[in-house]
Amino acid sequence: MIRKLISRIFDLPASLAGNKSKPRVLALAQHGVRRDALSHAALRVVSRLQDAGFAAYVVGGAVRDLLLGVTPKDFDVATSATPEQVHHLFRRSRIIGRRFRIVHVMMGPETIEVTTFRGGEVANKNETGRVMADNTYGNQVEDALRRDFTVNALFYNPTDETIIDYHHGVKDLRARKLVMIGQPARRYQEDPVRMLRAVRLAAKLDFTIDEHTRKPIAANAALLRNEPPARLFDELLKLLHSGHAYACLKMLRDEGLSQGTFPLLDAVMDEPGGETFLKNALANTDERVRADKPVSVGFMLAAMLWAQVRNRWQQRLQQGERDIAALVEAMAEVETLQDNDFAIPKRFSATMREIWFLQPRFESRAGQRPFRFVEQPRFRAAYDFFCLRADAGEVPRELQQWWEDFQNGDTAERQQLVDDVRNSGGEAANPERKKRRRRRKPAAAAGGGEPA
Ligand code: ATP
Ligand code: MG
Repeated sequence: MIRKLISRIFDLPASLAGNKSKPRVLALAQHGVRRDALSHAALRVVSRLQDAGFAAYVVGGAVRDLLLGVTPKDFDVATSATPEQVHHLFRRSRIIGRRFRIVHVMMGPETIEVTTFRGGEVANKNETGRVMADNTYGNQVEDALRRDFTVNALFYNPTDETIIDYHHGVKDLRARKLVMIGQPARRYQEDPVRMLRAVRLAAKLDFTIDEHTRKPIAANAALLRNEPPARLFDELLKLLHSGHAYACLKMLRDEGLSQGTFPLLDAVMDEPGGETFLKNALANTDERVRADKPVSVGFMLAAMLWAQVRNRWQQRLQQGERDIAALVEAMAEVETLQDNDFAIPKRFSATMREIWFLQPRFESRAGQRPFRFVEQPRFRAAYDFFCLRADAGEVPRELQQWWEDFQNGDTAERQQLVDDVRNSGGEAANPERKKRRRRRKPAAAAGGGEPA
């Protein structure tokens, strides 16, 4: 019965589908993952479910990462209990999601995501084959079939320390390759975000994407355009936080996926120096992610779109527009272009905008301005960004070094640095702006005061 059903869903010969329902069960000696490698919360959740008579396993990315010797960033549990039954067992839990109902179990500082085994025919699809609802429950065999890659379909049972492997996931993991379960094209049509997951996981794990899994990506990339922007942005965030953001973005572009998600990325990377700028920017944030330090998404987005902003800014300056006005216009233009694809949520775009907007302030070193600027809450982010521009040869290295010294100096040293600039003839940059200021406020400018 199940065999027939599975072969119908995945167009597999019944014999092949049948083989898939017989898993390999690996003992501790064969895989080496001990139960104490799990988090306290993951262990507690699994054992409470099992004690209540349900099947329960750690599943997905955590098992994969443990096998690779990587510390999992979170733990997912798959169980035979329904969301209501799970919710009933854990006081601090809540049922979330509509398209996929899952339970978040809060335990201490951790949140464990508990999903009920999926199964049954995926009946609710739209005209492109997209799965619209998927809350039919099934058993473990079916659940394994519905997961994306073979390495993500491994179940770990902490009670006997076994790994249950229906799709040769362990073999593929050792060969370091991502293999889609079932027919790749069809699985991408069911859920186009799987294409982004393939790229993100391959870059993050340093895996190759198996040829059969990779090939249909190009032909199906356009499907991403129909995905809800919020879901795409979620994926972009995961990608930026993967610790391999640059590798991910590069692969995204190489696989033709940026068109569906982040078209401006193509424009940025095609810009002379654009790719290097982005590479340097993300090398830094990737390093921070890997050292478990916080990173600013606004900063990464600022770097991703900078080549576009800079170009437009320069063009406007050449046309005689004023410095700040030109920059603000350029920023607005780029943001409008980006909004056509998906709007960047405010909590990130505000930082991004501020980093850009503060760039011209590194050109003014007179009077109290530098003193005030370093006190700005966003100074550090703006300065890090300015360093990237210096690395790219966009702004003079001496100017960046001056700001480095200024930040590190005490009050007297800072004053000395400001005096040095004045004594050497003041700011060379932007004489146009100076002229204007003098006209408006001759007395203040002469006294080193602060024009508005
Ligand atoms: P990460 O290390 O980024 O958390 P992950 O593989 O754990 O990677 P999750 O988004 O946490 O990714 O998903 C958990 C598991 O759920 C996956 O390992 C996979 O088995 C399954 N899964 C997630 N998204 C999909 C999808 N779009 N289609 C099929 N299965 C999916
Ligand atoms: Mg996960």
